[in-house]
Order: sequence, then C-alpha cells, then structure tokens
Amino acid sequence: MELSVIIPIYNEEANIDALYARLRGVMDMMRVSYEFIFVNDGSRDQSLPLLRALAARDEHVRYLDFSRNFGHQIAVTAGLDQAQGAAIVIIDADLQDPPELIVDLYARFRQGYDVVYAKRRSRQGESQAKKFTAKAFYRILANITRISIPVDTGDFRIISRRVLLALRQMPEQHKFLRGQIAWVGYRQTFVEYDRSERAGGETGYTYRKMLSFALDGITGFSDTPLKAATLMGFAVSGVAFLLMVYTLYSRLARHDYEPGWASLMMSILFLGGVQLIAVGVIGEYIARLSANVRQRPLYIIAETDHGPQDFGVAPAPPVPAAAVTAPEVRPAGR
Ligand code: UDP
Ligand code: MG
Repeated sequence: MELSVIIPIYNEEANIDALYARLRGVMDMMRVSYEFIFVNDGSRDQSLPLLRALAARDEHVRYLDFSRNFGHQIAVTAGLDQAQGAAIVIIDADLQDPPELIVDLYARFRQGYDVVYAKRRSRQGESQAKKFTAKAFYRILANITRISIPVDTGDFRIISRRVLLALRQMPEQHKFLRGQIAWVGYRQTFVEYDRSERAGGETGYTYRKMLSFALDGITGFSDTPLKAATLMGFAVSGVAFLLMVYTLYSRLARHDYEPGWASLMMSILFLGGVQLIAVGVIGEYIARLSANVRQRPLYIIAETDHGPQDFGVAPAPPVPAAAVTAPEVRPAGR
C-alpha cells in the first residue's frame, strides 16, 4: 500500500460524495495503490449511511464509526491507528483542503521528505475573528515553544510511515497532532496553497472546541505559562514586600497613617487576581495530567466495515426492526 488517506467526518453529508469523487480522480491520476479511511466522529446527519454506501461500492474505502463525537484530533488519530500506507495523507472533508494538492505533497514527499505540510497562503470564507485568533494563536505558540510548530498550517499534510510509527508511540489524551509531528523531526518541508471556503455544511469547530484545542497545543508543548505564573508571583511579592516596609515605616517611625481603605482594596483585589490566574494556569496542566493518568481509551468504535474482531469489541447485536427507522440519537461531544 503506497498511500493512506485519512478523512475525519463530522456532519459532512453535503461534502462526502464530492470529496470522494475528487479524491478518486486524484488517485487515478497518481497511479498509486491507496486506501481511504473515513472516520465518522459521531455525525448526526446522514454521513454514516453515505460512508457505508461508499465502502460497499469501492474496496479502497474503509470507515470507522465512533460511538459519539470525540473531536477532530481523535478522529485523525483513529485513522492513523489503522493506516497501512507507506505514506499517509490527512485531509479535511469539507474541501477546504483541495485534494488535487495531494499530487504536489506526494511529489515533494518522494524527494525524500518525511513530512510535507500544506501551508495556507490565504484563506477564504472564514470570519475575520477566526482568522485573527488563528493567526495570533500560532504566533504566540511559536514564541513559547522550543520546537518549531509551523505557522498557518492545519493538519493537511503527508507523513511517512516512520513518522506515523513515532506518533503511535505518543499516548497523550489531548492531541495536538501538528505539534507532535513537528516534535518528531526528520526532514520536513511545505507546499503553499490557497485555502478555499467550506464546500457545504458548516464548521464543526465551535469557539469552545477551538479554545480547548489551543490550550491543548500550549499545555502540550510549553511550560511557559507555568513559568509566567511563577514570575508574576515573584514580581507581585516584590512590590508587596516594598509596600510592607513602607507601611511599617509610616506606622512605627512617622506615626502618620491614613485610614487606607483604597490602598487596602487595591492590594487585595490585585493579589487575589494574580493568585487566581496562577491557580487557573496550574489547573489547566493538572486537568491534562489527570486525563492521562486515567488512561482511558482515546475513542470507542461503534461500527466499521473491517470486522468488529479487529477492535476487540463484541459484534453488534441484531437490530430490531423498529429501531432501524428510529432517528439516531447521540450525546453531544465536548
Ligand atoms: N471534524 C471532526 N470532529 C469534530 C469537528 C470537525 O471530525 O468534532 C472534522 C470535519 O468533518 C472536517 C475537519 O474535522 O473534516 C475540519 O473541521 P472543520 O472544517 O469543521 O473546521 P474548520 O475548517 O472550520 O477549522
Ligand atoms: Mg473546514
């Protein structure tokens, strides 16, 4: 198998067929042996039946179906766990990442690179707020990490089998794949492209998911916030100490002291604020520590065309006729 293509799917019913057609065209042109691994991340629309139909029609298509929405990074991870190719492509399902670029990615890869990521020259159809926060985030991250995580890139990229094997050795619960891939090293390069709008449907990345993703990136690859909390603590204590000396001096030597309500309030509020920030920063790290200590599986597979025995889960019980037509209800993801 030369190429595995991993496609995370969350409510992409509007895009699956067009995406498949374009991917298929690219593969036919490239003349490589390949597989498509679709990971259905708890979609609530008709994505799963579409994937079932594709898998039935085309032997290159495999799919995994999660028991609920586990998040984009976990969906990609599940694909990585299954990929058999010598090279692995990760691509979004919404056609914001043009499948045709895989030809260029693969050409660069064949020149001896282990990672070729697609760098966004421009991005269309995304809100100013999203573009601004993304830009700011990647630049802050680049400044506080020691490994260099490329700016303005998503997960659209091609990686070699040995990078994949390195990724499989990283059991962390809070995935930040673009950071992990940068961390692995080897020869990495990029190809530029213009990111277009989402073809259909709407984004599955809410601001909440983006924020937690950003925090995963920062906490996973930088201790700078912890150090900043310590530094802030020292700075504030320094000021507090000077004020204390001054207070004692005015009280004992000069015998001139004011009722001092304003200064009291200010110092209490300020100290309280700094302490809460520091505790919050530490809390973010502890939350991630505890998630890793729990060692839960990263995802649960509900269905796949690859036989349940591969995943060590019991085969699904026969579905009663009434349940077949009932709408599928799944708990919302985080
Ligand atoms: N996605 C996913 N799980 C999620 C959210 C998104 O698998 O919880 C998939 C989605 O189907 C798409 C890719 O991840 O293939 C990128 O998501 P999206 O286009 O919504 O993000 P954006 O491009 O807006 O950042
Ligand atoms: Mg998108």
